[in-house]
Amino acid sequence: MTIDTRLKNRWVYAFGDGVADGDASMKNLLGGKGANLAEMSSLGLPVPPGFTITTEACNHYYKKAKSYPPELRAEVAAALAIVEKRVGKGFGSRDNPLLVSVRSGARASMPGMMDTVLNLGLNDVTVEGLARLADDRRFAFDSYRRFIQMYSNVVLGLDHHMFEEILDDRKDALNVSVDTALTAEDWQGVVRDYKAAVERALGHGFPQDPQDQLWGAIGAVFESWMNERAKFYRRMHDIPEAWGTAVNIQSMVFGNMGETSATGVAFTRNPATGEARLYGEFLVNAQGEDVVAGIRTPQSLTRAAREEMGDTAPSMEEAMPEAFHEFVHAVGRLEHHYRDMQDIEFTVERGRLYLLQTRSGKRTARAALKIAVDLAGEGVISKEEAIMRVEPTSLDQLLHPTIDPSATRDVIAAGLPASPGAATGRIVFTAEAAVRESAGKEPVILIRHETSPEDIRGMDAARGIVTARGGMTSHAAVVARGMGRPCVSGAGEIEIDVAAGEMRTRGRVWKAGDIITIDGSKGEVIAGAVPMVEPELSGDFAQLMTWADQHRRLHVRANAETAVDARTALQFGAEGIGLVRTEHMFFDADRIAAVREMILADDEAGRKAALAKLLPMQRGDFVDLMTIMEGFPIAFRLLDPPLHEFLPHTEEDLAAVARATGLDAAKLLRRAGELAETNPMLGHRGCRLGISYPEIYEMQVRAIIEAACDVAASGKVGPRPEIMHPLVAKAEEMAFLRALTDRVAKEVMVERGVTIDYSVGAMIELPRAAICAGELAAHAAFFSFGTNDLTQTTFGISRDDSGRFLNAYIDNGIFEKDPFISIDVEGVGALVRMGAERARARRPDVKLGICGEHGGDPASIAFCEEVGLDYVSCSAYRVPIARLAAAQAALARKS
Ligand code: PEP
Ligand code: MG
Repeated sequence: MTIDTRLKNRWVYAFGDGVADGDASMKNLLGGKGANLAEMSSLGLPVPPGFTITTEACNHYYKKAKSYPPELRAEVAAALAIVEKRVGKGFGSRDNPLLVSVRSGARASMPGMMDTVLNLGLNDVTVEGLARLADDRRFAFDSYRRFIQMYSNVVLGLDHHMFEEILDDRKDALNVSVDTALTAEDWQGVVRDYKAAVERALGHGFPQDPQDQLWGAIGAVFESWMNERAKFYRRMHDIPEAWGTAVNIQSMVFGNMGETSATGVAFTRNPATGEARLYGEFLVNAQGEDVVAGIRTPQSLTRAAREEMGDTAPSMEEAMPEAFHEFVHAVGRLEHHYRDMQDIEFTVERGRLYLLQTRSGKRTARAALKIAVDLAGEGVISKEEAIMRVEPTSLDQLLHPTIDPSATRDVIAAGLPASPGAATGRIVFTAEAAVRESAGKEPVILIRHETSPEDIRGMDAARGIVTARGGMTSHAAVVARGMGRPCVSGAGEIEIDVAAGEMRTRGRVWKAGDIITIDGSKGEVIAGAVPMVEPELSGDFAQLMTWADQHRRLHVRANAETAVDARTALQFGAEGIGLVRTEHMFFDADRIAAVREMILADDEAGRKAALAKLLPMQRGDFVDLMTIMEGFPIAFRLLDPPLHEFLPHTEEDLAAVARATGLDAAKLLRRAGELAETNPMLGHRGCRLGISYPEIYEMQVRAIIEAACDVAASGKVGPRPEIMHPLVAKAEEMAFLRALTDRVAKEVMVERGVTIDYSVGAMIELPRAAICAGELAAHAAFFSFGTNDLTQTTFGISRDDSGRFLNAYIDNGIFEKDPFISIDVEGVGALVRMGAERARARRPDVKLGICGEHGGDPASIAFCEEVGLDYVSCSAYRVPIARLAAAQAALARKS
């Protein structure tokens, strides 16, 4: 909304007595706290009168050599006069003193990062006035000493320990242990000592003029915008420095005026579970900081909560029923007004309720889901709003067992949160040990320097995986996410000694067999077993997903190779498979021998003989996938990695393979040497294998079409296989691969007498393929953007080695996010956009998808929606995230 012209160019906005200059829409100018105080005041809720100095004034302060705008003093004086009138007290008055709080309040909440001063306006004279007004000397001097301590710390820069020591010494001298045992005279003595300490430390007395106090506090709040804590918090939460903080100056109300006074914090719903019940705590006869400091145990708000907790101290409902009922009514109004769960601070002063703050409450993923669905069910928000209220990636927390949030964690190493979820098991250091131990049903955690495709069975057997090296798209991370195994990658502080069967981290030694827990959502390795909570896929989750599906345009498929992956994908709502990495099927123990035989063959005949052994195995796998995904499309990506990945690497391994298979050890060694490449990522891989050894792709195409014939013959809905060629760059390559595919498919269909509705396409993983997508489209019915390789080849950054230096790029702000996780819209995205446009121009009905890791990242999915791709494909466990993100992207484009 536009600001009333009367209010334009003002630095100060007042609120209180049922009116306000600002409102909730003015968060940018007034900060979250200031805007909501204004809004609550206009709603007629009991808010202590006050005023807000704008974030613009803070920006002025920093831009103009830490000086205030010239008009500010007069505007503050005028606003203070209004507050005095509203409250009926005078700032600095000896008989009827107005005290104020001075608090920060940025546009986004930054809890505890900036400074606050309470009880401002007290001095040696006004403290007597307060004592008379309150008819309570003890309260007045307790308030004064709190003020001296807070102000001296926040504004004068003195260490608060100095004051705590003075207080402790006095308590010792009086032989008491709690503050409540101190009398008015005792507090008066503490005030004397505090003031003397300030004088000693600074060479001048504690400021007595309330105006000096006020401007000192305003300056301190502006200064606190740039303190180290605040800067760090802003970096962590992407809050721009240019936002600045507002300053809220508000008349004080006291929760520490005896047994009919109290202070507390409440959430309108449970922020951990989302349950629609008032949740929170309060303290009788206390000031706000006492709740935060945790010195006294707070009491429940409601009687029900007290009974559940088994507390003996009375709840607010029981101790102050009138204030409680007024409070319940007020928070109900606030939730309804803001149409979201609120986090509210309040004070009761001698039985009278005041609201000091309201904001949308932070919540767990579980609570976010329940609150969104419940609010839509209650008619407070629309279903579309409910969809927009849940952060898609937070669903991760719900799809895997996770560590009980109340559990204590003894973290022994930290790495990247490569694959979410948590798992507990015994340490193993080799894939073989993982398979062996887990066969005895012993849960294990596989710890490796890095994983290679050979480890796949061990990874599958393990409950979780930890690697000391590798980034978010390292082999371990991609495979673990695909399998839904929790994984921590790049935990560089772990030193592994496989031979000794032990690892060292943070000065401790862990042996094979020791129990650890990993948290793949946080990237932590934890000592021992830690309690877990199981995922919940029905109820609110299912409801929100159904609503999301009604709004999304993008289809969502999964990347899956195994029957287990495919079933999981279906259960999570996948509408097909966007990527079957067919080589994953070659790593099974009973297949790898035939694969190695094929690689070692001297000639085409030898290769064909070995491939003939692999054919029935691949066909069997494909039949399984087509049967499970009945009727849904499946994109089978033909062999992609360089062949040497299938050969054993060390001499010992070579000897072991030779013994087990009867293959010639010397030949094996020679061949491994021949196949070694300087830069395998840019080497003999992808469709280059199919062009130099066409018999490999012929076998794979045959396996796919034969499987489709078998499935069609079994009466299942006709499978629609998509045969996808990796790493294509040239139209001539595509023409060659297309001819090969059609020839073999035709052969099989003629042999079987069945027609299969198959299609041939390519992955776009090279800049040239994106640029020349029009020419490629002459021979391809579909394209899938392989953005893992496309990112690698566009930046020229190896996806396997990026972990070593990308952090420095992110820390220095060169990359905002890891481009292997969230698509680089300007570069890689431009190629995707160009590829899509050029492919469509040549072939309007071309089908377009994405199957790199970006297919499960909400920001990248929004980009795919904008470019108009037909589908995204991601690991099975990210399918619900992609469904929600796709719905949000579609809704965002409509609005
Ligand atoms: C890709 O490159 O984006 C892709 C999906 O293929 P892979 O990760 O198997 O190289
Ligand atoms: Mg690739």
